[in-house]
Amino acid sequence: MAKIKGAIVVEIEKCKGCGVCEVACPTQVIKLHTDVNGKGYHFAYMENPDACIGCANCAMVCPDSVISVYKMKVEA
Ligand code: SF4
Ligand code: SF4
Repeated sequence: MAKIKGAIVVEIEKCKGCGVCEVACPTQVIKLHTDVNGKGYHFAYMENPDACIGCANCAMVCPDSVISVYKMKVEA
């Protein structure tokens, strides 16, 4: 059966490290990185990429709209 898998891309230099996306993700995909971007903010990244279901919650809550969500079908 085909399953939906998701992936996100964060525009690292535009992320301000607010962490709203981390809280909004139902499957705990997102964490704030220990590294910082050019502005000194801990940016969001996929800590558990396999858990992403492409729900787009993170993209909807990001105040700066710096997250893009991609969905793909995976044949299981
Ligand atoms: S698309 Fe959904 S599951 Fe994937 S990282 Fe964003 S909130 Fe989490
Ligand atoms: S909600 Fe947006 S600005 Fe805030 S940490 Fe996530 S990606 Fe960065």
